[in-house]
Amino acid sequence: MKNKKVVVIGLDGANKTTAKLVGVDTQLHDFISTIPPYTPPSWTSILTGVNPAKHGIIGWQKVSKLSGKVSLATSRDVKYPRLTEILEEANLKSILINLPMTYPFNGIRKKENTIIVSDWAAPKQAIYPEELEKKYSEYLIDPPHEWSKHKKSEYPKRVKEYTETRMGLYYDLLERQDWNLYFIVFSEIDWFSHIFPQILEGNDTHIVAPTFRLIKKFIETAQAVSDVMFIVSDHGFEVKNKIFYVNEALSEKGFIKYRKSKAKLVKIAKRTLPKKILNRITEKTKISSSAVNYVAQNASAFMVEPATWGVYVRNMGKKKEIMKALSEYEEVFDVLEFGMVHKGPYLKNMPELIVIPEKGVEFSHELGKGPMEKTYKGDHEIHGVFSAYGKHIKEDIKFEKLPRVYDIVPTVLHVFGLPIPNDTDGRVLREIFEENSEFALSMSKRIPMD
Ligand SMILES: [Zn+2]
Repeated sequence: MKNKKVVVIGLDGANKTTAKLVGVDTQLHDFISTIPPYTPPSWTSILTGVNPAKHGIIGWQKVSKLSGKVSLATSRDVKYPRLTEILEEANLKSILINLPMTYPFNGIRKKENTIIVSDWAAPKQAIYPEELEKKYSEYLIDPPHEWSKHKKSEYPKRVKEYTETRMGLYYDLLERQDWNLYFIVFSEIDWFSHIFPQILEGNDTHIVAPTFRLIKKFIETAQAVSDVMFIVSDHGFEVKNKIFYVNEALSEKGFIKYRKSKAKLVKIAKRTLPKKILNRITEKTKISSSAVNYVAQNASAFMVEPATWGVYVRNMGKKKEIMKALSEYEEVFDVLEFGMVHKGPYLKNMPELIVIPEKGVEFSHELGKGPMEKTYKGDHEIHGVFSAYGKHIKEDIKFEKLPRVYDIVPTVLHVFGLPIPNDTDGRVLREIFEENSEFALSMSKRIPMD
């Protein structure tokens, strides 16, 4: 089974509504994201088969427990072998495009048979191995983030231009390079769902249609050249109508003390972060993250990156008190210890608490507002989408247990007839295979990692 060709198409942030807009309208199943349902931990779980406490990624940023300092997470912070690194052991060839936490490329240890294209959040649009850089440089254009801030009306056009240009690279790699695994992520769905939440309710879909058509055409082409194709999203989306300011709530209850005006906090943020990095992360985390960085030095507990749902506790003696205080807010569904949700050797790098929002509630880490405010926008939710097509794949899949982000690695390894790491958090999705097919009949072996 080693000569198989497997394609994984990632539709960042797609739920059933937006997946259908892209044109994926058959075989659509729920796909359970990580807790938190967030791009960096979730794609890393899809690519490793393990939970955040085993792979080490919780957000775009990481926090030093000693100093409370915040810095960017990179490929080097991924502590578990990726699917492509496991395939390297079997001399299989991979292409990895737009996956978060794959840059810089030297953070990926085994990559002799792997081509990697950096994701939108990388500080530089690049391709590995370096000799391909020249060949493909015209396609490696920057994502159009600044347009979402300044000219919302221009944004869909810019995204379409970006997608169209980069498509040249995606097709060339698909059709002219030799591969066993071709794994690509399209972030466009996520970007649009944040900025135009009305598409989540089926309105104004003409705004996104030109870009989604390009993605649909690519999916059809990829399906034609693959034996098995999976379509997955890292998380779903929903309309949020409330913002809950977690740090402001912590301040209200006396766990964060600050007396700076908001203007001063923004000034501090600009001083402490280099401009290039600031541009890159403002889209997702907003300017005040390093203001929080500053405040955090004197806080008992604080939130750094709201979509991680994580709260770092610096004064462990107050942990129970903090949990109780936060859970009293009606915007909070529950507060859990991180170690109750995920287990692994990198639990020590994770926030101590996970705060689960009520439906329709989005968190913010900004200070000086709230703690509650009304809003209308799109943000992450736990139900992504899963779809599978190809040779020996049933046309009418029925899941006994919903597929989860951890299941892609074991299932792809099974298709290649390769052993599965025995500490994986996923399972082989056996329900998808036709009865009596080679995939249904073969048993998978388990092996220890390292
Ligand atoms: Zn995402």
